[in-house]
Amino acid sequence: MSESRRVFIHTFGCQMNEYDSAKIRAQLSKDGFVAADDPTQADLILLNTCSIRDKAEQKMHSALGEYRNLKRYGQPVTIGVAGCVAQQEGKTLLDRYPDLDLVFGPDGVPQVRGLVREAMAGKRMLDTEFLDLETYPFVSDIDPEAGKSVGAFVTIQKGCDNRCTFCIVPTTRGDEASRPSAEIVAEVRALVDRGVQEITLIGQNVNSYGLKVSGEKTFAELLYLVAAVPGVSRIRYTTSHPRDMGDDVVQAYRDLPALTSHLHLPVQSGSNRILRRMKRFYTREHYLAVVDKLRDARPDIALTTDFIVGFPGETDEDFRETMSLLNEVGFVNSFSFKYSSRPGTPALRLPDHLEDSIKGARLTELQTRQRELALAWHRSLEGSEVSVLVEGPSRHDAGVMCGRTATNAMVNFPGPEWLIGREVPVRVTRGFTNSTRGDWISPELSAPAELSA
Ligand code: SF4
Repeated sequence: MSESRRVFIHTFGCQMNEYDSAKIRAQLSKDGFVAADDPTQADLILLNTCSIRDKAEQKMHSALGEYRNLKRYGQPVTIGVAGCVAQQEGKTLLDRYPDLDLVFGPDGVPQVRGLVREAMAGKRMLDTEFLDLETYPFVSDIDPEAGKSVGAFVTIQKGCDNRCTFCIVPTTRGDEASRPSAEIVAEVRALVDRGVQEITLIGQNVNSYGLKVSGEKTFAELLYLVAAVPGVSRIRYTTSHPRDMGDDVVQAYRDLPALTSHLHLPVQSGSNRILRRMKRFYTREHYLAVVDKLRDARPDIALTTDFIVGFPGETDEDFRETMSLLNEVGFVNSFSFKYSSRPGTPALRLPDHLEDSIKGARLTELQTRQRELALAWHRSLEGSEVSVLVEGPSRHDAGVMCGRTATNAMVNFPGPEWLIGREVPVRVTRGFTNSTRGDWISPELSAPAELSA
């Protein structure tokens, strides 16, 4: 196969899915596929799906309907569903949609070339088998799009061994496997060679990286290895589990300047009773102790989190505990959702599910307070000089550059495009709820010679 064909990948959900889509693109490029900007131009449309909440799943069904219409009205296109919904629904999807050609779960990603080849030859394909954990074939091919952005994701593990009672991930992505550290470092080097500066290590529970593999590095040791790769300016990671956040990782915040002063540490609830029901295996007190240690090691660290409100049995008192934790930690941002029951999860079987109106009212209260905290944080930056890694022009004004501080605050400032990919000093002039505005401190600098010629 060498002729150029076009693939359009519609990605739903988390960074793990974004990463999987990049790996699908990387592998298909070996068979001559290039990215299509538009589904109407595609020979192959893949939906990389998310089933973490019911809403995400519904979105995928409606997008699939649109793509099936293209086929129905004559576009010769092969359509596939990948990711967590594919894993969860499997053959049901093929039965429900007769014009769907291909269904494969997250463990099908390393085999996507063969699956696509068969599907394009007219065979309806289904692959929802989990691969062997000991020999799990993490994909090392680099996304052809890598290097176009200043940042890139690098997976360090797949699956999860925890069984939080609300979560469908262990069902859709299987048990945890850690990727060999040598492969991770090689991928980081390859990305840096393409101009990537900010590496985000991703996994479902990065803190348990390597623990099941004899002789493998721990997560903290991996951070030191990645930081030692020349050219890595910033390291982020997600997602962490508060129970597994060890002192060695806290120490890394003292030792590694490249480790950014931002941590996403999902707490889910501030009530010990609800945390027990969620089977999170930590308490509010443990979480706060971890926060104290992190702030001791890195005083400017900005903390973000996830909240689920309206978990079955959550009383008003439990919710007050969540609100008080939000205030006590002073999270600068959070992803918060109403509890959404997922098929096959233990929480679905709990007897005391809450009315949607109660969940909605609690979510509104929490998000209102979160916006106040975010605004206060951004305003606290007014007048200060921050270092911004410039990501690109703002969506609304090409003369305004947009980038992030190490604490993950978004900063917009007037500046030329050649700043993209550079870390520049900016004075923050105004803080808003979602971002800040500022002035570049060295505008008298001129473009590098290679750009001004
Ligand atoms: S740690 Fe819990 S919430 Fe996170 S992926 Fe694993 S089971 Fe799901």
